[in-house]
Amino acid sequence: MQILALSIAGTPFRWLSPEDAVHYYAVEKVAWSIGPPAVIFRGGMQRNGVRSILESAPIIAVAGSDIMSRTLCQTIPLGDRNDVLFRRDHGVCAYCGENFNRSELTRDHIVPRSRGGIDAWNNVVSACRACNSRKAARTPGEAGMELIYVPYAPCRYEHFLLSGRAILVDQMEYLSAKLPKHSRWKI
Ligand SMILES: [Zn+2]
Repeated sequence: MQILALSIAGTPFRWLSPEDAVHYYAVEKVAWSIGPPAVIFRGGMQRNGVRSILESAPIIAVAGSDIMSRTLCQTIPLGDRNDVLFRRDHGVCAYCGENFNRSELTRDHIVPRSRGGIDAWNNVVSACRACNSRKAARTPGEAGMELIYVPYAPCRYEHFLLSGRAILVDQMEYLSAKLPKHSRWKI
C-alpha cells in the first residue's frame, strides 16, 4: 500500500511508503488529510501503560519543504521505466490496436531516435514487438502504418494515477476528479 502525499495546495508530489507517511505525522508535518486511517502501526508501551499508535490517512498534505516545491515546478519526465507509458495507452499497441501484456509491449518512438526524434511523452507510444520491428527506423508514414491513438503527456494527477500501485479508493477518487477531459483515464 502507498500513501499519496500532496502539497498544502493539494497537488500530488509523491507516493510514500506507510512508514514515511507515519514519519510525517510524527514530526507534525501533516497539515491535513483525506479519508479514514489506511494504515495503523502499533508502537511500544508508553509510561502510562497505553500502547502508542501511529496511523496515516490514505492522502496527506505535507507542510512545505523546499525540495517539494522544486519538484512541483517540473513537468514529470517520461523516465526509463515503461509502466506508466503502457498504462497511459491501456496496454494497446498504437499500430495494430491489439491488447498486450506489459512483457509483450515496447516503447516506440514515433519519429525514430536515429532520425532526431526525442524521448518524450508526445513522441512515444506503446507498440507490440511485431509492429515495432515492422516499423523499424521509419516514421509511420514511411512504414505505411497509421497511429490509432494520439500520444500525450499525462498531467500530474494522471501521472500519479498511472504510477501508483494498488491505489486505494480515496486516492483514486481524488486523482480522477482532477483529470483533464482528454485523459484516456477519465471515468
Ligand atoms: Zn501491434
